[in-house]
Order: sequence, then C-alpha cells, then structure tokens
Amino acid sequence: MTAATDLSEATSQVADNIARIRADIAKSAQAAGRDPRSVTLIGVSKVQPDDRIEAALAAGQRVFGENRVQEAKQRWAARRETYPDLQLHLIGPLQTNKVKDAVALFDVIHTVDRPKLAKALADEMRAQSRRLPCLVEVNTGEEAQKHGILPGDVDAFVAACKEDYALQIVGLMAIPPVDDEPSPHFALLADMTKRLRLPWLSMGMSADYEVAIRFGATHVRVGTALFGSRQKPADAKPA
Ligand SMILES: *Cc1c(COP(=O)(O)O)cnc(C)c1O
Repeated sequence: MTAATDLSEATSQVADNIARIRADIAKSAQAAGRDPRSVTLIGVSKVQPDDRIEAALAAGQRVFGENRVQEAKQRWAARRETYPDLQLHLIGPLQTNKVKDAVALFDVIHTVDRPKLAKALADEMRAQSRRLPCLVEVNTGEEAQKHGILPGDVDAFVAACKEDYALQIVGLMAIPPVDDEPSPHFALLADMTKRLRLPWLSMGMSADYEVAIRFGATHVRVGTALFGSRQKPADAKPA
C-alpha cells in the first residue's frame, strides 16, 4: 500500500472513529454513574492534514484542541467563518508573546502554568473584552522537563489567578508521565478539583480516555484515536 493510500484510508475512518469514541465515552460515563453529556470530546487536530479535519467537521465534530498558536490560526481562522459553532481549546504551552493571538483565536485555555502567563492572559482578555475560561496545568508527575504547577503549589496558584488577576479558572488539566500507570495521576487531579470546587477536569488522551472518565474527566483530549497517526511528510518544518 502506498503512503497516499494510507492517508486517504485514515481520512475515510475519521467518522467511524468519532462514532466509536463517542460510544466508548457514553459507556465509560454510564459505568461510572455519570451523564455521558458531562464529557466533552476534544479532537486534537495538531499536525493533521486538511482532509482529516474536513472529515471530522463533516461528521459533526466541533470541539478541537491545538497546542501551537500559529499552527492553530492557519488551520482554524478561516474555518471559524464557515463553522460559527466551533470551539477551540489551547492545550499546549503558551509563551507570553503569543498571548494576544491566543486570546483572539481560542475559546478555552488549558495551560495556565505560571504567574507571568496568568497576568498576561488577564491583561489581554481585558483589552480584547474576551473573558475565556481557563484551566491550570498541573505537573502531577513532578517531572523536571514538564510544564505545569507542582501539586503542592496548586491551591495557592489557583487562588492567585482568581484574586490577583481575576482570571476565570474553571478547572485543572494534566498530562501524566508517559511511562506511568495514569490512574494515580487522574485520581490526584480529581481530588484537587474537588477540593478547589472546580467544575472542569481535562485529562485522558487516546490511550486512556476511558480510564480518565472513570476518574471524573469532563474533557478528554483525543488525537490519534480520532484522526489517525500524526505522520508528517518528510519535507515538513519541524513542529
Ligand atoms: C497531542 C496531545 C493530545 C492528544 O494525544 P493522542 O495520544 O494523540 O490522543 C492530548 N493532550 C495534549 C496536551 C497533547 O499535546
């Protein structure tokens, strides 16, 4: 099979993938005694080719996640006109020099992870009169190379975001360490959101979204299981 055939094969499967993932979400939610509608499926569209994006839109998917501001702008700015009900979530690290574009494009920011960014977001939201719901990213595995607030600092940081910057903090987000069993990380994040009385819990990706829902995830971020693998052409710019 040629590479081109593989690509169109993945595109033809996007609608089926979405239907299967939605059914899995409903099953996991019901097993946990939760309303399936309490879980939002975020289709993580980073790096994916246009035909797969169009296939997802044709299948009715409207909520998408991106982790780079410029890439997201290229992919979604024009489509926003065609699909006014799109909901775009920023799920990747945000540099303060991209805050202006991020506030203009996205509807939700999942990755508030330091005071300087919290302040920059608050100032920019005020300037643009766009008060976006935000989540604080938590480094549940306390990994040195990873973004996010350490679990022991979360209460103070959430309080500062609300009180010092008047950010609308609605929840917490985490990416567990790749080699760890995710359950303890999901449990820890769920405990923290409960303690802080925050309604949103962004956790669970392609490999573990069903587990995350058992632990209370309200937003699962699913990329490869929905769109297929993120194979990049050889001449692609480094991401
Ligand atoms: C890429 C990404 C995902 C999706 O990962 P998959 O394993 O492809 O589902 C989810 N969350 C974040 C923060 C990501 O960067």
